Amino acid sequence: MLFLKSIVGAFLGLIALGLAAGPIAAQEYPSRNITLIVPFAAGGPTDVVARIVGEHMSRTLGRSVLIENTLGAGGTTASTRAMRAAPDGYTIIMGHMGTHAAAVALYPNLAYNPSTDFEPIGMASGTPVLILAKRDFPAKDMKEFVTYAKANEAKLNMAHAGIGSVSFTTCLLLNSLIGIKPTSIPFSGTGPAMNALVGGQVDFMCDQVVSVVPQVQAGTIKAYAVGTPERNPALPDVPTAKEAGLPEFKASAWNALFAPKGTPKPIIDKLNAALVAALDDPGVRKRLIDLGGEIPNREGRTPQALADLVKSEIAKWTPIIKAAGAVAN
Ligand code: ASP
Repeated sequence: MLFLKSIVGAFLGLIALGLAAGPIAAQEYPSRNITLIVPFAAGGPTDVVARIVGEHMSRTLGRSVLIENTLGAGGTTASTRAMRAAPDGYTIIMGHMGTHAAAVALYPNLAYNPSTDFEPIGMASGTPVLILAKRDFPAKDMKEFVTYAKANEAKLNMAHAGIGSVSFTTCLLLNSLIGIKPTSIPFSGTGPAMNALVGGQVDFMCDQVVSVVPQVQAGTIKAYAVGTPERNPALPDVPTAKEAGLPEFKASAWNALFAPKGTPKPIIDKLNAALVAALDDPGVRKRLIDLGGEIPNREGRTPQALADLVKSEIAKWTPIIKAAGAVAN
């Protein structure tokens, strides 16, 4: 009996310890480096935003924020890995409009629910989407692009970062507006896709501004239109899709930080505070703005604002994707 009592006592003690470990772990957080998963290849928009913001966050948190590029399935492989990671704040993900909104309609068997399987940390940057083509693409503006694409649909190649990505989803919208079905060429991110566009191996792409600006400025690719209501200050010569004659091309993406569901609130608060500090830093702001990124205002940086955004973006993109008849196997 005594033996049993001591076992029960030890057991209760362990439970008490376990309960106490949560708040203590949160108080001491972070006591080691943090892995920030980027669901695409290095050099693309998600990677660029993650490195700019992550570098400043590591200064605030006093631990390194290590970037891990996990590739595959339009960002959904990485998002599944993040969803299954321990909810302790040491594994987080830079998701986006594709992984945490469009993927829901594109993958009927998606392993995660972006609205319920993650704790939103906050939005890092708005990333308007541009319609781009290789430098010698035979169309000088959006109208000529539409005419040429319709007439040459069979031989057109479209680069993208996999089904579920922003580039896939926004070009799906473009293709259905024009009424074309080009050959689709998937890459592990729009970093490598951009290399193929610059090299002339693919014809066109839709991509997030933050890794596009240097190429457009250098004249190595063409930019026909941006999918936002206003022109982008980093590319003032590129017309809006409305100005260019394709007003229905409304395509603006975003990158945002998420933690696995169940990550304690004090840890989410610390991560959010580090994100907010990064977005207030003049150096970080300049780098993002020079690349055409849109820095969210104070209200737009809260976990709740991100939770609302995910819901409204799923509601926005699902009917567009269904109407285009796109589904991954
Ligand atoms: N911009 C890419 C996309 O199409 C992903 C990336 O490489 O960041 O979703």
